[in-house]
Amino acid sequence: MSKQIIMLFGAPGSGKGTQAEILSGKTGYYHFESSKIIEFHIKNDEPGKTYEIEGQTYKIEDERSRWESGLLNSPPVVVYWMVKKIKELAEEGKSIIFSGSPRTVYEAEREIPLFKELYGAENIRFIMLEISPETTIWRNSHRRICELIRHSILFTPETEKLTECPLDGSKLVRRQGLDDPETIKKRIEIYKEQTHPVAEFVEKAGISIHKINGEQDVAGVHADVYKAIQ
Ligand SMILES: [Zn+2]
Repeated sequence: MSKQIIMLFGAPGSGKGTQAEILSGKTGYYHFESSKIIEFHIKNDEPGKTYEIEGQTYKIEDERSRWESGLLNSPPVVVYWMVKKIKELAEEGKSIIFSGSPRTVYEAEREIPLFKELYGAENIRFIMLEISPETTIWRNSHRRICELIRHSILFTPETEKLTECPLDGSKLVRRQGLDDPETIKKRIEIYKEQTHPVAEFVEKAGISIHKINGEQDVAGVHADVYKAIQ
């Protein structure tokens, strides 16, 4: 079977991270989380580091303050980090699942052509998990992550009483600063303004969008996602 690029798309709390994790476990595809790549660089790049991208200079300190305020990082820096990793994975012959990337049209313009070049347009799947704004706020304000691997645990009747991660047994905690109501509202606004037009760009690039009802339970959404990648 040909190597694939799977992009899971949807508002914060749509379950794209959870679905990517399950799909990755089932297929062995690499789960590429842009948030973790960003977090890696925010935490590990040395103080004073600068990036020269398309004639501009960016500083790691500025990226850190944006990240800590719940704002999106500078698209050029994010894309720089992403493209580097994508090329490495393609060279290793890996299929990739993205959860929440590309985030902006700027990012899509630089990543979609790269995907086409490295994997072929016919092997790219763009999957939209659709949920209401009410569900977004509810799920995010109740979300927890595990201390060990940072598995994201969405709030559902099945997970409500959990105190430990079902996958590794570590303690479940709230994400500091990221899941308070003001930050969630900010993230929804950013999603609407910047991320939604990505779908339009992808369609114009000749990649069809599979829409899936994200309000279903986790197993139901997974069944639809799995069907969409066949
Ligand atoms: Zn865990």
